Amino acid sequence: MIHALTIDVEDWSNATILLLFNRVENPSRAVVLEVERLLTLLTECGVSATWFVLGEIAEKYPALIKKLSELGHEIGVHGYYHYRLQLLTLSQFREQLLQAKNAVEQLIGKAVLGYRAPAFSVNYEDKSIFEILIECGIKYDSSVFPFKGRRYGSSKVNPAPHKIKTAVGTIWEIPPSVMDWGLVRLPCCGGGYFRHFPLWYTKWAMRHLEKRERAAIVYLHPYELQTEFDDAYFGQHLSPDEWPLMKKNRVLQYRNRQKTADKLGWLLKSYQFNTIRSLMSF
Ligand SMILES: [Zn+2]
Repeated sequence: MIHALTIDVEDWSNATILLLFNRVENPSRAVVLEVERLLTLLTECGVSATWFVLGEIAEKYPALIKKLSELGHEIGVHGYYHYRLQLLTLSQFREQLLQAKNAVEQLIGKAVLGYRAPAFSVNYEDKSIFEILIECGIKYDSSVFPFKGRRYGSSKVNPAPHKIKTAVGTIWEIPPSVMDWGLVRLPCCGGGYFRHFPLWYTKWAMRHLEKRERAAIVYLHPYELQTEFDDAYFGQHLSPDEWPLMKKNRVLQYRNRQKTADKLGWLLKSYQFNTIRSLMSF
């Protein structure tokens, strides 16, 4: 079976300042170093991935995104800034989506087909976002987490890839993987679930998905390999009264990062992975 590896390309430092203090700052260079590190690992394992890139990263580090595309990886978009969709009006969402999509398409000279919302913040019940994606030429979305978590997701969503019908056409939904037994579901295969949980949990999830002949849709962020907190960047971008909240936030966010590269290496050598585009016919 061939599975899909997806990577949300964002900089932890500026995305966290946006999340905690609602302020847009330039992405730090750490994102370049961590994408390069991931790329080395993927090349060693002969894996191509789908990279959902923020427009601000594509504009600040164009050579990096161009290189990914030239090496045969698929490039999708993750919005322009890392705003959860609830913080944007529909017209701001459309404008920022197009800004990101146009920036990436100009760089890579190919059409962008895929989209993932920051923090899986798409509301599945409201079709407006899907309609805008269709109108902007997006063929698939991978933002609906089929498990109800504290901040996102819904346990009612079909966990397998499926088409969503709207008034302006249809779009594919490719949900990040969960294990499911009817009404009981467990999140797996990505981000914090991959980083915090022991490796046997991921092995269990992969067996579960293969038994159901369902490709795993694994997601990760380049910053999950970044183990050093960037004091110099935060020294420049935080005021003294903002430090306590940032320090509190980084405790959980940096936990187990030192184990991610080894775990990922094991996963990529044990299973076959490719891009979402290669698994589907859009
Ligand atoms: Zn993200």
